[in-house]
Amino acid sequence: SIEIDEDSPEDLKARAPIVTVMGHVDHGKTSLLDYIREENVIAGESGGITQHIGAYGVTLESGQKMTFLDTPGHEAFTAMRARGAQVTDIAIIVIAADDDIMPQTKEAISHAQAAGVPIVFAINKIDRPTANPDKIKEGLAQMNLLVEDWGGKIQSHDISAKTGDGVKDLLEKVLLEAELLELKANPDKLANGTVVEAFLDKGRGYVSTILVQAGTLKIGDYVLAGTCSGKIKAMQDERGKNIKKAGPATPISILGLDGAPQAGDKFNVLDDEREAKQIAAKRSQLQREQSVRTQRH
Ligand code: GDP
Repeated sequence: SIEIDEDSPEDLKARAPIVTVMGHVDHGKTSLLDYIREENVIAGESGGITQHIGAYGVTLESGQKMTFLDTPGHEAFTAMRARGAQVTDIAIIVIAADDDIMPQTKEAISHAQAAGVPIVFAINKIDRPTANPDKIKEGLAQMNLLVEDWGGKIQSHDISAKTGDGVKDLLEKVLLEAELLELKANPDKLANGTVVEAFLDKGRGYVSTILVQAGTLKIGDYVLAGTCSGKIKAMQDERGKNIKKAGPATPISILGLDGAPQAGDKFNVLDDEREAKQIAAKRSQLQREQSVRTQRH
């Protein structure tokens, strides 16, 4: 069995917030994620982020860290939530200032609200001559979403994901929101977390990007993730650097699983390799039986 141990308050240490970017198609989610990824170079580290592993961590000028799920669109968010995974602490919802509040914007808002995740609005494309951020804020007010400029409590910032204008201030607002959440995790135990994506690489075998949410993952640990298991052979960060351990709110790609788990699958580290294999096998069998049953009905 997988033990769910209770952490005592003194075991908990501050961790970085995990942020998802959502919004209507073409409103600038990818551009914003790209801008943040490309602009941020960790102090003392020469290389930028070279790998698209589905999530990345950045360090702001203030020295504070933030983790972004690099899977724009709420499809990934919804898929993960459907599997019971709650990985996001804060949602940035991008709205193009030269457009309207569109159906997918509304969907993103309701997904975030349903998950109880605080929203920070990024009113994007303000470099465009036809941009009208006030019209967007008015539209939000009509939906009962009052942003700060309108006397409300919801954070919002005008940005251009293209020129980078306002992006730093947007991130500071996200951090402020994160501070209110007092995010903590216990780094001193066996790791658990969520699978972000996984695929089969011809040369390297199964590569999975996972987000450690609690504990510390180490090379040699036995991991159980959905219906897959295996001993961690190697870990890499988003800069392609080999690392030996990863603590809470760290996204990493790992090698060593015997298959590709699904986005949103939880992972755990078990003491015992045999137990990990047995649980994975039992889950596969249950899944097969379930699919046989659904085919019959
Ligand atoms: P996504 O579908 O939400 O990921 O949107 P993209 O990031 O792919 O952006 C859609 C289009 O809008 C692309 O052609 C971008 O270059 C453009 N775009 C995104 N942000 C900005 C911006 O701030 N200003 C301008 N002028 N164009 C932008």
